[in-house]
Amino acid sequence: MIDVLGIGFGPSNLSLAIQLKELAFFNDKKVRFFEKKKSFSWQPGLLLPNTNLQIHFLKDLVTLINPKSPFTFINYLKEQGRLSDFINLNVSYPSRMEFNDYLFWAANKFEDIVSYNSYITDIEPKYDVNQVSHFKVTYVHDNIPNEIETRHLVIASGRSPKIPSAFFQIYDGINVIHSDQFTKSEVHKIASENNLKDHKIAIIGAGQSAAEIFLYLLESKNPNLKVVNFIRQFGYSPADSSSFRNKVFDPDFVDVFYNLPSEAKNNILESLLNTNYSVVDPDLISKIFTKLYHMQHFDRSNNGAIVSLSEIKNVIRNSENKIEIEYSSKINSKVEKQEFDYIVLATGFEQAFLYKKYFNKFKDIIHYGNDSNLEVNRDYSIKFKKCSEAKLFLQGYSEMNHGIADTLLSVMANRAFTIATSLIGGNKN
Ligand SMILES: Cc1cc2nc3c(=O)[nH]c(=O)nc-3n(C[C@H](O)[C@H](O)[C@H](O)COP(=O)(O)OP(=O)(O)OC[C@H]3O[C@@H](n4cnc5c(N)ncnc54)[C@H](O)[C@@H]3O)c2cc1C
Repeated sequence: MIDVLGIGFGPSNLSLAIQLKELAFFNDKKVRFFEKKKSFSWQPGLLLPNTNLQIHFLKDLVTLINPKSPFTFINYLKEQGRLSDFINLNVSYPSRMEFNDYLFWAANKFEDIVSYNSYITDIEPKYDVNQVSHFKVTYVHDNIPNEIETRHLVIASGRSPKIPSAFFQIYDGINVIHSDQFTKSEVHKIASENNLKDHKIAIIGAGQSAAEIFLYLLESKNPNLKVVNFIRQFGYSPADSSSFRNKVFDPDFVDVFYNLPSEAKNNILESLLNTNYSVVDPDLISKIFTKLYHMQHFDRSNNGAIVSLSEIKNVIRNSENKIEIEYSSKINSKVEKQEFDYIVLATGFEQAFLYKKYFNKFKDIIHYGNDSNLEVNRDYSIKFKKCSEAKLFLQGYSEMNHGIADTLLSVMANRAFTIATSLIGGNKN
C-alpha cells in the first residue's frame, strides 16, 4: 500500500507534489500521481496563441507559500535565460503558452512519481472495524486494468465539459464539439487552412472561451469562414478584476469564507459571479469589437456576427448533415433559424461527474450538507460520517465551502500547502 495517491496531474496536484517535496514528505513516504494524458499539458484544448493567463504570474505553483522555492515562475524564467527579457515585456499576466511551458518544466521534475496514460475508473473505501482505513483504486494503464491501495487520496481531476440539454442528441465531438476540444477539432483545422470551401460555425456561450474562439476564428487564415456567436445577454459582460474585487481571490479570504453561514456564502458567491463566470476580459472585448468594425466597414465582410439576447430553442441535424439552430429573440420573442456546419459549445464546465464517477461506493459514509453539497473540511478533506484514519482530499471541487477561487489557480499553492501539512499530520479536523 502506498501513502498518497493523486488522481490527475494538472496544476493542482503538481503544486501538491512541490509542497510535499519541499516538506521532505518523499523521504519516508510513497506517493504516486495518475494522469490520463500521455504527458503533461495544461488545458491543451484551448491553448491558443495570443491568449493570456488571467491571474498574476506570482500566483504560480508555489510563490505564495515559498517565494524562495526553485519551482517559482521567476526561477523558471531565469533557467530559460529570459528573466531580463520577461521584465522588459512589462506584463503581470503572461501568455497561456508560456505558463503552460512553465508548468511542463515543473512537471518534468516529478517524472519518477507520475504515471501518465493512467486513467482512474473506480474508488472503493476499505474498512477496519468501522473506520475507513484506506482506499482501493482501480485504474487503466496503457489499456491494461489494474488496482492499487492507498492510505490517502487527493482528487484533482478537473471538471467536465457542460453540454446544454438542447445539444445532447446531436453532440458527436466532430461537428458539434465542446470548447475543451477546440485545438484538436476539425473546426480548428479548417481555420488554419486557406480552404476555398465555405464553412459556417456557431459558437454558443458568452464567457472567456467563447470570446477567445470567436476572435481566433475571425482572424483565421481561412477567408471563407462565417462565424456566429450566440449570446443570451446583451453583448459580452466584462470580467471584474479590479483591485478590491480581486481580494476575493486572496488566500486569506478562504478562512473568512469558510467560516460563514451557508446563506452568507451563497449571497457572496452570487454577488461575485462577474469575477469569473460568463464574463470576458475587457481587452478581449475591445479586440473583438475592433475586428468586427473593420470587417464590417472596411472589408465589407459579413463573416462575423454576434446574436445577442438569443435563446436556443431547438437543434436538429438535417438530411444534409447540417445543424439547424432555432432560436428566439429575448426582445420580441421572434423565432429564427440558421444552418451551420459546426457548433462549438463554449458552455463551461461542471463537477457533477465527481459523484457519479467516483463516489458510487461512498453513499453511506459521505456527509452532505445543506443543498446536498458535499461537506468538506477546512483542510479540503471530505467530511466522513465516522471518524476515519484515511483521508480523501479534493482540489477544485469546494467552491461552496471554500469560495469562488477554489476552481481557479489563485489559491492553488496555499490549498496544496494546507493538504500537504494535513498529510504530514499538522492539521486536525
Ligand atoms: C482554457 C482555460 C483557461 C484557464 N485559465 C485560467 C487562468 O488563467 N487562471 C485561473 O486561475 N484559472 C484558469 N482556468 C481554470 C482551471 O481550472 C485552472 O487553471 C486549472 O487548470 C485547475 O487545475 P487542476 O489541476 O485542478 O485541474 P486540470 O487542469 O483540469 O487538471 C486535471 C487533470 O486530471 C486529469 N484527469 C481527469 N480525470 C482523470 C482520471 N479519471 N484519471 C487520471 N487523470 C485524470 C486530466 O487529464 C487533467 O490533466 C482555466 C481553465 C480553462 C479551461
